Amino acid sequence: MKVIQSWDDGLVSDIRLIEILRRHQAKATFCLNPGLYQENRSFGWIHENREVWRLSIHELVDVYHGFEICSHSMTHPYLTDLPVDQLYWELQTSRHILENIFQKPVLGFCYPFNAYNDFIKDAVCSAGYKWARGNQHLKGVYPPGDPLEFHPCCHFLDQDFWGKYDRQKKRNNVFFFWGHSYELIDETMWENFERMIDRISSDPEAEWDFVADLFV
Ligand SMILES: [Zn+2]
Repeated sequence: MKVIQSWDDGLVSDIRLIEILRRHQAKATFCLNPGLYQENRSFGWIHENREVWRLSIHELVDVYHGFEICSHSMTHPYLTDLPVDQLYWELQTSRHILENIFQKPVLGFCYPFNAYNDFIKDAVCSAGYKWARGNQHLKGVYPPGDPLEFHPCCHFLDQDFWGKYDRQKKRNNVFFFWGHSYELIDETMWENFERMIDRISSDPEAEWDFVADLFV
């Protein structure tokens, strides 16, 4: 079974998450908003009484070295609310900037707030993306009916995470989970997360993969 994980928004807490992933040789895909990173780390919002900070633009290459990058748009708007020229800016410019920063093709897109429709999907395709994800939780994730609607099986904090994992393994399908590193709010959660990654990495029937490898 292939295992895919995808993390959103490009946050300072990704640094700790990535240390864990590296310790267990886990692959992962990170969905970034290049229009939101500044010269220095910047305050994003409050989650569970804790400040969520974005990485600085200068840290991105080092932090995400060796991981898959996909675009999450320039500024994380509801794409369905945008005039066409702004929509293309969100889609195309974000891809170009990320390709410039990371010096590699950016083939994937993640819909902010899971907001999309057929028009948005066409625009994502014209902007050069080969696959796109939202966050609906589906049973049979792979192959998706449409690579521009490649949705995960579950969120990483799903109560039935291991049940879904085992079901996908039985089918020898793909297990795909997603989340945000800022949702790890205390030491117990971080320890549980490391245990989860270790358990997958130690499973002889599981193999980490990047999303692009499923579609190329
Ligand atoms: Zn997001």
